[in-house]
Amino acid sequence: MSGTLAIVGAGAKAVAVAAKAAVLCEMGVDVCDVVAVERAGVAANWRQGGGWTDGRQRLGTSPEKDVGFPYRSALAPGRNAELDEQMMRLSWQSYLVATDQFVGWIDRGRPAPTHETWAGYLRWVADVVGLKVVRGEVVQLSLEAPNWVLHTRESSLSADAVMITGPGQPERSMLSGSPRVLSIAQFWQRAARHDRIVADNVAVIGGGETAASILNELFHHRVSAITAISPQATLFTRGEGFFENSLFSDPTGWHRLTQDERRDCIARTDRGVFSARVQESLLADERIKHLRGRVARVVARDGRIWITLCNDNCGEPVETLHRFDLVIDGSGADPLWFVPLLSPAAVDLLELGVGGPLTGERLEESIGQDLAVAGVTPKLFLPNLSGINEGPGFPNLSCLGLLSDRILGAERGVTEPPMGRSDAYQSV
Ligand SMILES: Cc1cc2nc3c(=O)[nH]c(=O)nc-3n(C[C@H](O)[C@H](O)[C@H](O)COP(=O)(O)OP(=O)(O)OC[C@H]3O[C@@H](n4cnc5c(N)ncnc54)[C@H](O)[C@@H]3O)c2cc1C
Repeated sequence: MSGTLAIVGAGAKAVAVAAKAAVLCEMGVDVCDVVAVERAGVAANWRQGGGWTDGRQRLGTSPEKDVGFPYRSALAPGRNAELDEQMMRLSWQSYLVATDQFVGWIDRGRPAPTHETWAGYLRWVADVVGLKVVRGEVVQLSLEAPNWVLHTRESSLSADAVMITGPGQPERSMLSGSPRVLSIAQFWQRAARHDRIVADNVAVIGGGETAASILNELFHHRVSAITAISPQATLFTRGEGFFENSLFSDPTGWHRLTQDERRDCIARTDRGVFSARVQESLLADERIKHLRGRVARVVARDGRIWITLCNDNCGEPVETLHRFDLVIDGSGADPLWFVPLLSPAAVDLLELGVGGPLTGERLEESIGQDLAVAGVTPKLFLPNLSGINEGPGFPNLSCLGLLSDRILGAERGVTEPPMGRSDAYQSV
C-alpha cells in the first residue's frame, strides 16, 4: 500500500509492520509511511502500568514467534530470501545477542520471557527501525475524503489507511466504583504494589488468557477459595500440538474449512481456553473451582458481591445466585473497542461496506485477504477481527511477519505462496 498507514497503538503489530516497512525501504522497495499513535508508550500493554499485566507474567507463545515470524516474506518478488535475512536482524534471538542475554537464555533452557522482557524486545525493534510514534490517545476516528483522520486531545493526523490494534481498555468492570469489584487494571495495580489480596471467597470472571494470568497471580495471595466463572462447559486447555500450532503460523488451507469448522477451531485453540502451563498450576491448587455461566447481574449488598449467572438448560434460561467477598472482572478484551471512536460518517461508510449495523460477526465476515474491511475505502485494517476469515494467528502474536505482508501488500495484490516462500531456495 502507498501513502501513510496510521496504526492505533504502538504494540506488537505496529512494531512488526513498521519493521518490515523499514527493511523494505532499505532494500529500495516502495512502501508506505508507517506512523503509530500511542497513548502510553511502545509496548505499553506488556508492561506494568499498561493495565493488562504486572510485567512479571510470562509470554504464552514462544518468543521465536517474533516480529518476522514465519519468515516467509512475499513482498519482494525475487528478493524474498534477502528480505527474510534482513528481518532476522530484528529477531528475538538477535535482540538477546545485542543485549548480551543470549547465553543466559540458552543455558536456562530457553524460558518463556516475562511480559516486561517481551516489551524490552519490542522497544528494541522499534528503536532500531525508528518507529514513528505520535503520542496521544486516539479519541475519534473520522473521515475527510479520501483519508481517515485520527484525533487525539492534542492533535490530529490524516492517513490513507488505518489499522486498529490492541485488546481495548482494561479499566472497565461490571460494577465500577465498588471496592469489592476490581477491573483488570485495578487488579494489576495492586499486584504491582505487592498489595496482597486477603479474602475468603474470590471470583474471577472470564475464560481467556487475561483471566488465566489473573488466576496465576492470585495463587500467591491470601485467598481461601477461587471461582473461575466462564460460559464454557469447563476450563478447556489450549491445544498446543503441531497441528494446532501450525494453523496459527500458516493459514494455508484455512479457507477450505467451513465457517462452523473455523469457529470450532478457534474455540478449541484460542478463545476461552487456558494454556497448558496455566492449567498445570490450576490443577495443583485445590482452592480453585469452575462455575459455568454468563454473568447477568452484579450487585453489591451487605458487604458482599452477588453475581447472577445465566445458563441455558435445554432451551430454558436458568438463573442462579452466587456470593463472593471479592470479584475480579477479567472478561476485558474486546475486539470492538474502537467502534465508539468512529464518527457518524465513518459508521455509515462501514455499515454500507458490511451490509448492516456494525456487529462483531458482520465485521469478522467482511474481512478481506489484506485484513481490511472488504470494499471500504479508505482502508480500515482490523487484524483482531481477521481470525474467522483469514486465519486464527492474525489477532495475536502467531504470525506477525505474515500479518505485515498482508497489510503492506494491500493494493499490490501480493499473495503469499501456498506452502512457504516462492524464491527461498532458488536464490541460495
Ligand atoms: C495478559 C495477556 C497476555 C497475552 N499473552 C499472549 C501471548 O503469550 N501470545 C499471544 O499471541 N498473544 C497474547 N496475548 C494477546 C495479545 O493482546 C496480542 O497477541 C498482542 O498484544 C496483540 O498486539 P497488538 O499490537 O494488537 O496490541 P498491543 O501489543 O496490546 O498494543 C496495543 C497498544 O495500543 C495502545 N492503545 C490502546 N488504546 C489506544 C488509543 N485509543 N489510542 C492510542 N493508543 C492506544 C496501548 O497503549 C498499547 O500500547 C495476551 C494478552 C494479554 C492481555
